[in-house]
Amino acid sequence: GLVLGIETACDDTAAAVVDEDLRVRSSVVWGQKQTHEQFNGVVPELAARRHAEVILRVVKQALEEAGAKMSDLSAIAVNNQHGLIRSVVVGVAAARGLAYAQGVPLVPVHHVEAHVFSAIMTNPALFEPHICLAVAGGHNALIHVHSVGDYEVIGRTLDDSAGEAFDKVGSYLGLPFPAGAQVDKLARGGNPRAYDFPRPKLKDGSLNFSFSGLKTPVRMVAEKLQDGASAADVAASFERAVVDVLVAKTLAAAEQCGLRQVSVVGGVACNTLLREELPRAGAKAGIVVTFAPPRLCTDNAAMVAGLAQHKLREGAVGTLDLDATPNAPLGRRGANYRPNQS
Ligand code: ATP
Ligand code: FE
Repeated sequence: GLVLGIETACDDTAAAVVDEDLRVRSSVVWGQKQTHEQFNGVVPELAARRHAEVILRVVKQALEEAGAKMSDLSAIAVNNQHGLIRSVVVGVAAARGLAYAQGVPLVPVHHVEAHVFSAIMTNPALFEPHICLAVAGGHNALIHVHSVGDYEVIGRTLDDSAGEAFDKVGSYLGLPFPAGAQVDKLARGGNPRAYDFPRPKLKDGSLNFSFSGLKTPVRMVAEKLQDGASAADVAASFERAVVDVLVAKTLAAAEQCGLRQVSVVGGVACNTLLREELPRAGAKAGIVVTFAPPRLCTDNAAMVAGLAQHKLREGAVGTLDLDATPNAPLGRRGANYRPNQS
């Protein structure tokens, strides 16, 4: 049967329908850009209210676009383990109500595990052990994926995530939040060698990241833009610094674990330079790099429904009830990993 996925971790209200062959039948994402833009960041209380307003409409649209009825569903999956508590609660409440009304089981899903699965569901070679670079707004990690459900976090950010760094640099350049995609666009017309921004932790031999030290040098330059400096050059030089670090650490992780496959997921996996540079550097080292498709990189519910389908196929039994437990560890050996640690 079909699985309906529901996702409300942060500021995107999403619902999707995925079939047993992991084909995405529909994927609806209702963003809240206008709600939070003026605050230069996500306001949790407002995010939760917007989710509550639109969640049922988004579910209805996902079913319609899939050509499915509630009675075609064999389960409902929901992210209940990562995100802003009040936002997560709205998705969980909706999923519980729908499951109860329809008499179908619920499948609990961890948002970050769903991001990891977004690459796997589009490239079956990734069911084999690999390194996943998970780079989004709220988390930034290198994960040794032993198998689906079995993860070892071998590196993480010690402060800001790459996505946060993109968003902050965007705001220094006067771009509206969330600015990652806009910084990317701007960088395409700039010179990446115009400014020599720091590459934090590049040579420390660890697999950890730190992007907060980039903020001040970039802001100093951005403030002088009126003196003829080009915003495109700032964006390109900043992007180059972040991508240099992400590429080096990811390939080092693959090397250390003796793995030849790498996946990249999360919103920053949409980045143009990262999508060029990591496969190129990987090829030189004999490492194959797969990016999740862009529409599965930023928050969506197809990755949630897809992961649930896989879990059901592997024998997982849905539950009739579940709670919102954000900040949950990732996977069964995940005691070492709380994505919001930073
Ligand atoms: P988390 O999954 O950790 O809770 P999130 O769900 O908010 O965080 P995503 O939706 O996966 O994060 O990703 C959003 C982030 O990706 C934002 O920080 C955004 O600026 C960034 N981003 C999106 N597109 C690009 C791009 N082309 N280049 C760089 N960054 C990008
Ligand atoms: Fe996310």
